[in-house]
This record gives sequence, C-alpha cells and structure tokens, in this order.
Amino acid sequence: MPQLRLDTPVKFLKGIGEKRAEAFERLGVMSVQDLLFHIPHRYIDASSVTPMAKARVGDDVACIGTVMSKGVLPTRKGLRIFHAVLKDDSGLLECAWPGQSFLDRTIVPGQLLLVAGPIRFYHGRQMAPREFIILGDVDDPTSSGRVIPVYPATEGLSHKQIRAIINAHLDAMIAIVPDILPEALRERFQLPVLRDALLALHRPTSSADADAGRRRLAVDELLDLQLMLARARQLAREGQRGTQFTVHKTLTTALRESLPWDLTTDQKQSVREIFDDMTKKERMHRLLMGDVGTGKTVVALFAMLLALENGYQAALMAPTELLAEQHYRTLSKLLTPLGILPELLLGRLGAADKNAARARIADGTTRLVIGTHALVQDHVAFQRLGLVVIDEQHRFGVEQRAALMQKGDAPDVLLLTATPIPRSLALTRFGDLDMSILRAKPPGRGTIRTALRTPAHRNRVFEFVRKTVLAGGQAYIVLPVIEESERADLRAAETMAAQLKEKWPDVSVGIVHGKLKPAERDTVMRAFRDGDVQVLVATTVIEVGIDVSNATVMVIEHPERFGLAQLHQLRGRVGRGEKESHCILMAASSNMPERLRAFALTDDGFKIAELDLEERGRGDLLGARQSGGIDFKIARFPDDTDLLAEARALARSVLEADPTLIKRENKPLRERALARYPRGEVLFRVG
Ligand code: ADP
Ligand code: MG
Repeated sequence: MPQLRLDTPVKFLKGIGEKRAEAFERLGVMSVQDLLFHIPHRYIDASSVTPMAKARVGDDVACIGTVMSKGVLPTRKGLRIFHAVLKDDSGLLECAWPGQSFLDRTIVPGQLLLVAGPIRFYHGRQMAPREFIILGDVDDPTSSGRVIPVYPATEGLSHKQIRAIINAHLDAMIAIVPDILPEALRERFQLPVLRDALLALHRPTSSADADAGRRRLAVDELLDLQLMLARARQLAREGQRGTQFTVHKTLTTALRESLPWDLTTDQKQSVREIFDDMTKKERMHRLLMGDVGTGKTVVALFAMLLALENGYQAALMAPTELLAEQHYRTLSKLLTPLGILPELLLGRLGAADKNAARARIADGTTRLVIGTHALVQDHVAFQRLGLVVIDEQHRFGVEQRAALMQKGDAPDVLLLTATPIPRSLALTRFGDLDMSILRAKPPGRGTIRTALRTPAHRNRVFEFVRKTVLAGGQAYIVLPVIEESERADLRAAETMAAQLKEKWPDVSVGIVHGKLKPAERDTVMRAFRDGDVQVLVATTVIEVGIDVSNATVMVIEHPERFGLAQLHQLRGRVGRGEKESHCILMAASSNMPERLRAFALTDDGFKIAELDLEERGRGDLLGARQSGGIDFKIARFPDDTDLLAEARALARSVLEADPTLIKRENKPLRERALARYPRGEVLFRVG
C-alpha cells in the first residue's frame, strides 16, 4: 500500500471496501483525516454502570450483562414483545422491547449487551430499554475496568465495526497528523499535544483521560471561530475611524424630558455605554441585548438622536417590513414632541414615492430613516450617515457583520437582539462586539401568567379564549406543525384553524405558518395587528417581531416539543400592553415535565437561556451529547465555558503578532479556520 496520507480516501484502508466507504461517507468521513477526527460521542465506563441487583423500580439506569436467553412473546392484544434475560456478576435483569420482534435476529445468547432505560414493575422487575448497544466481543468492561468508546454509527456500519477499524489504523494515522497549534502557544496555555489528545479520545484509560483529550480538540474548534471574531473586532477598531460625536444635550435632553416615565437603571447604563463609545474617535460596534419589552427601542433612539444633534443622519434597519412599520409607529410617537419626522422606506412603496424618499435622504432633508436591512443597505445614498441601528441581529454571522462594517463612511453601529443568551455563549456568537445588557423590564407593564394545563382542561381553556376575544381581546394559538401529515401524532395548525372556524362562526380566525409566502403572511399579520383577525393560529413564525398589545392570551399546544428559549420567545408576544396576559401551555398529559414547571415559574430571559443551554448541552446516557442548536461538533456548553475564554485569549495573542495569519507557523491555523468559515475570507485579505 502506498504511504498513508491524511487525504487518502478511507476506501483504500484495510478493512474498508466500497460498501463501507459509502457508509462512512454518510457519516461525513471521506479521508483518513476525517476518520481520525471521527470521535466517540460517548464512552461506556464501568463506573457509571449499575449492577443489576441494584436496579430498582423507578430508576433509570444503564446495565451491562451477557444475554442468557431470549424470545418473542405475543400478547393478547396481538403486540409482539421481544424479551431477553441478561446476567452480570450481581444478578439477572429481564428486558422487554414491545413491538420490536425483529430484534430476535440481532440479539443472541452469549452476547455482551449494554442496556439503558427505566426499570418498571411488570410481573416483576423489568427494564424497557430506551437504547442498547451490542458490545459483542469486547471484554466485559466491568471486569477489566476499561472505558470503551462508542462512535456515531450508521446503517451498514456499526459502532463496533467503526471501533475496530479506527483501532486498527490508529497508530499509523496518529503518526502522520501534525499539530498545527504553534508549540509556544500550546505550552503557554498548557494544552496536550494533539497526538496525545487523539490517543486519549480513541483509547482512553479513564473517562477523565478521554475528556482531557476532547477538551484539547474543543479548544481547536473554538479557536477557529475566535480567530474570526477577534479579526473582525480588530478590523472594526483600527479600520476606518469613526465619527467623534459630542453630547450637545439638545435633542437627547429634549427626549429625556418628553418621556412620560424614567429610564430604568439598565437603560440608563446602556445609554451611558453607548454615548461613551460614540464620543470616542473609534467606531462603535456594540450589541444591545435585552428580552422583549425591556425597552431597547428608546435606548436606540437616544443613540440616534445623539447622531442627529451632531448634524448626522441615523438609520434603523429591521428584518421585515412589518417590523419596520412597527418601529416607525413607535418612533414617530416618541419624536412628535421633538418635531422630528422619520422616513419609512418600504419595498412596497411605488417607484415615485421611493424615489422621493431616496432624494430626501440623499439631500439630507430626512434625518432619521427606518427600513428593512435590504433597503437601507443596498439602495440608499445618505447625505451624512453617522449611525446605523440593526434590529434582531442574531441571525447575522460575524462575516456579514464585518462586510457591513466595511461599507460606506464608517457609521457607528448598534445592534439590537431580543434573544438573551448566556454570557459564555455570547462570547462565541458576538465576541467581536462590545455588549450592553437590559435585564430588568420597566415597571408597570402588564404581567404574564403562565399556566400548565392538561387535556382535561381543554374545553375550559378554549372557552376562555373565546370569552377573551368576544370581549374585544385577541389571542394566539401556537402549534408545532403545519399539516397533520407531517406528524400524525401532533395537532396541526391547519386542522386547528379549520376546526375553530367551524366551531366559532362568529370569531375571525387567521393562520400563519412558514409555508406561506412572505406577502401572504404579512397580510394576515397586518390584519391581526389591526384587530380584523381575532384569533391567530400560528407555527413558530410569530416568534420574532410582532407586537400587538391587545393580544393577551397565548395557547401553546405540545409545549414539550419546544425548547425553553423558544417557548420564552413565543410567550414574549403577549404581555405587550397594560393588561394582564396569559400564556397557557397545553401539555399532553398530567405527568408534567419538570422543565415546563421551571419555565412557568420564571420570566427572566437570561435564566431561561441558561436552563435551555443546560438542557441542550446535557447528555442523556453516560455522557452522550444531545444534538441541539449549538453548532459545535466537539465543544459542549456549559461544560466548556472556560475553554472559550482560553480560545479567545489564544486567538487574540496570535492575531496581535500576525493579524492576517501570514507567518509560516500560523498559516495552517489560517487554512483550517477558513476551511470551517469560508466566508471569513474577507477578514484575512492581505493588503
Ligand atoms: P423592546 O424593543 O426591548 O422589546 P420596547 O422598546 O418595545 O421593548 O419597549 C416596550 C414598551 O415599554 C414600550 O411600550 C415602551 O414605550 C415602554 N418602555 C420603555 N422604557 C420604559 C420605561 N423606562 N418605563 C416605562 N415604560 C417603558
Ligand atoms: Mg423592539
């Protein structure tokens, strides 16, 4: 065989033919390099396995034992149940898999089996395995004390086969893998060399050993992103100079005096931080993060007025036309006492109106412009733009932000996001930005009561909805799927809307979901905003944006299908007015999950974000990682929060000495980071 290289296709490896190579491809493993970095998603560690004799009814445990006997038993109802009896040093355990008689072909006596699941009482103690793994010919880890890696597997390629293949080639692969982290850095941050880390991952001597290896790889992974963020920040700071504004206290003070209420402490602090930035000669590059209703708009308005009182223009960009309209209304109200007329720039304006608006912006008649991202970004020439405020930025990646920063005459930039995320994660997403946080809501707003209800309450809940809307209020009903055919076991939005229309002929019911065209969706949303639709049946498309203060009731079906952060975003659609609001979670059974109870008890978006993170980062069996919305393959949160700071420090120290990563020792870092974030190319252009 020719010499092994990292880019050698896996099909040339011994033990892998065409068939297996195809299966590997499904796992994203094409080359030797991919195989080496195909890391276990969990380990079987003898210390976390329960002796069978100790498994009690009601426990949820993992056990390892040898299959003693097995068989398929039909029940009276015609369901076929696969049974197996396992044995370990401590005793026996009966396992039952209802409706899975096909396992009869897979599980055979003599095999060593890992099973995990709840222990229940059914003619005796019995496990209903949620999961099982055939350990097969592996030595019993409980007797050898070994830690066995379990790899992500696929059809036609079991984790056991993968383990054997990786094990057979591990030494040869490790011998050729370079450590691209410069040695000086590695030593300064006391990280293990890559080879040791990979060995520990694939052939751990203990769980701690494996985790130390994983963390080294996690640092590498986080470093790629931190290099992008740190570079973006560098460019933003040293790039074009910003405008140095002066607090003249004309418009800004006029606004403060015209507000019917005092700013909250958090708002004052944020305004101070923003003004500090804007009065410096560097460009501002700041994120204002705060839950819905914390009062971001007025803070942004102070920033815009500071630009205006210095003879500059300001622009506010929203993600949708509807939100732009909403901002326009809010700001117009706040600006009336100051005699300022904002300009609303919408895609659906006629050509003549649009041209007139553009002319006013270009000659400086208009001082404050509100529009969508696309409109303001691409087609408008400003007379003298000093500040851009961008609403709902969490969907923007760092590269897009950087591209935006490099446009035009270097206006200051303030980003707004209504998605609170824990500080640790904020560093991964927004490490290139300075951050201001609004945590507390202004006093005197309508509270939201969150209630958990079961199917037994269904009629009463819907009666309450009906009463609310007949009394002049409005309501949302949120469902996880659009059509019944997507998931037969879930209530669907279309069915719900049809049923309500039939049952309540005197109520106007609208529906919005992701399959509608944006224009159709906007029409329904506008009708809801204007009160023409009383009950809005929706999927999660209403998550961000709409603000209808007359809507005081939200019913969420199948709340267990949603992440906590998502539930919180949904809930934020009510409680926008003075009146008390209700968010009703219709749980599928009276056996209410703890997470929903926790959710009902708090309205603090940051706390919920932390709960959500824990939920998604937590493994289920023996340290397994659940897939979640976190886009890292190796790093997990909150466990690896400390590594983030480390990766960030690493990135900054590398870039300080070599901003575009052109030095020979840093080139591999640059290549790897850009392989992962190709759009970051713009950040590292030389010259
Ligand atoms: P966000 O954009 O953060 O969701 P908004 O800026 O829309 O929040 O503010 C929510 C509501 O609270 C608005 O009606 C606003 O007028 C009001 N508000 C903002 N700040 C205060 C305050 N300090 N005291 C009382 N009400 C406030
Ligand atoms: Mg807002």
